[in-house]
Amino acid sequence: MPSASQRYLVEFDARRLAHRFTDILVLGGGLAGLQAALAIPQSMNVLVVTKGPLQQSNSSYAQGGIASVLDPEDRIEWHVRDTLIAGANLCDPAAVQMVVSQGPDCIRRLVELGANFDSKGSQITLGREGGHSHNRIIHALGDATGQEIMRAVIATTLNRPNIDVFENAFTIDLLTDATGCRGALVHYRNETQMIWARQTILATGGAGQLYRETTNPAVATADGHAIAIRAGVEVRDMEFMQFHPTVLYIAGSSRSLITEAVRGEGAYLVDKDGYRFMGDYDSRLELAPRDIVSQAIVAQMEKTHHSNVYLDLSYLNAEFIRERFPGILQTCADFGIDITRDRVPVRPGAHYMIGGVTVDLDGRTSLPSLWAAGEVTSSGLHGANRLASNSLLEGVVYGIRAGQAASRVAEDLSPVRTVETLQSRLPPTSNRPIDLVDIRNSLKSLMWRSVGVRRTASELEEASKTVQRWRVSLLTHALQDAAGWELRNMLDVAAVMIAAAQQRTESRGVHWRADHPKQDDAHWRQHVCFRGHETYLRPLPATEPLDTSAV
Ligand SMILES: Cc1cc2nc3c(=O)[nH]c(=O)nc-3n(C[C@H](O)[C@H](O)[C@H](O)COP(=O)(O)OP(=O)(O)OC[C@H]3O[C@@H](n4cnc5c(N)ncnc54)[C@H](O)[C@@H]3O)c2cc1C
Repeated sequence: MPSASQRYLVEFDARRLAHRFTDILVLGGGLAGLQAALAIPQSMNVLVVTKGPLQQSNSSYAQGGIASVLDPEDRIEWHVRDTLIAGANLCDPAAVQMVVSQGPDCIRRLVELGANFDSKGSQITLGREGGHSHNRIIHALGDATGQEIMRAVIATTLNRPNIDVFENAFTIDLLTDATGCRGALVHYRNETQMIWARQTILATGGAGQLYRETTNPAVATADGHAIAIRAGVEVRDMEFMQFHPTVLYIAGSSRSLITEAVRGEGAYLVDKDGYRFMGDYDSRLELAPRDIVSQAIVAQMEKTHHSNVYLDLSYLNAEFIRERFPGILQTCADFGIDITRDRVPVRPGAHYMIGGVTVDLDGRTSLPSLWAAGEVTSSGLHGANRLASNSLLEGVVYGIRAGQAASRVAEDLSPVRTVETLQSRLPPTSNRPIDLVDIRNSLKSLMWRSVGVRRTASELEEASKTVQRWRVSLLTHALQDAAGWELRNMLDVAAVMIAAAQQRTESRGVHWRADHPKQDDAHWRQHVCFRGHETYLRPLPATEPLDTSAV
């Protein structure tokens, strides 16, 4: 871990804080966290902590769907192969096999919990997305799959008598001692509390807010990644951030994702001069994989010295567009753009954090008594590039497994007790005023510019120095609230992402090093890992590399 770190974000003394006890503590109330909570036997007490309201998470934003082999004509091994190919030779085949084969059971479980998927008669409708060789995308309410799944899962959670939920509660840090994780320090209702647990599950989601352009909601500030890094938990593959190629780019609007389906229905990508440029980059044109389209858009923006490119639907049937894309039609109309006639300004945005806390098949982390699930992890499922609609599935599978495994361990442990001696002291603080909002905005712009879709050694080096300066200057300030804690987390995680991106001197999946444009399987089928102050490489188990050019 690049220096300028401290073990805890805030000062505390266990003898002076409020204490609370639970059997299992779940940090994060998205799909992974709630699946974990629901998998814990009702004989145990569970506390779920979420930063915002339960409805605010990447899970609720998911649009396209959840991938699973339900069609009798489809095969588990085809879904496995599609995932491995998308992952660009960096997946863990055992994780892929495990997640994909549990897919059909997960869908059945979500249906039992009350999720209504789009169907014809009694048959669930199966859609297709880029990189999948078969129709296997289950969706709900057209393109509001996450919203519908979370509606059902939240309702079930709130009805479980053994589960308590703290909403609008900020997890500041994990509490650790020589035996491992003991719970967490949580700020709730204007008070910092020590929550002690037999076992703790980290499910705090993604990191999109580190970037100026992102599809992620405000809660996705990489808190869980930072909390784990500070506690000395191993993280890996932090250089892999997936960018969605077409995010609406209108000053003042939310950065809405413009679904791939728009290109699927025939929309062109054109530059500021109206030139349809994808043919210059890939023979699959607008339907090339996400990372290739993102890279082509960035290259064309640079070539034309323009801040964005455009989606052009004007030559398609206007009536069809109005019916097929009512949401996008309305969002753009609010800003005076008629998508049946006008070009829609878009550019890539940070979408899915592939790197994270290293976990085994049960969600076990490198820290005893800490488990993790969902986007905060690196399970080995996605490798260097996530296959569309595999992350909701990952959240369900690993959420359940982590909940079950943590419960098994918790059952054999004696009741929770406090560690009265636990304290945190910080260096003396400075009275010099500091503008946290300014640093946060500058960090987001820097990450977008220098650690975005296209990376080079010199830009990464510059970014690393700048982030380090901000981290050092923040160290001497007492951070009193969520704004300060989030910023510190974002800076800590940015430092690790940049260091990992510097280290991987090749291009693979979503990591495009313009100065090392080739994928180098001979040297780089390895994970870049961070733990404490150490950085190290861990090779993948020896398997034959696949031909991934056919993604
Ligand atoms: C616009 C969009 C569309 C997507 N579409 C799809 C799709 O179609 N299919 C697909 O498979 N995937 C999709 N994804 C990705 C997918 O939604 C996520 O990867 C997945 O839902 C992550 O689930 P999670 O439970 O790990 O995290 P989240 O759902 O993000 O939940 C994280 C939880 O952690 C809490 N939290 C965070 N920090 C703290 C803290 N400091 N203290 C306390 N609580 C904290 C949050 O409040 C939240 O409750 C999409 C993502 C986005 C943004």
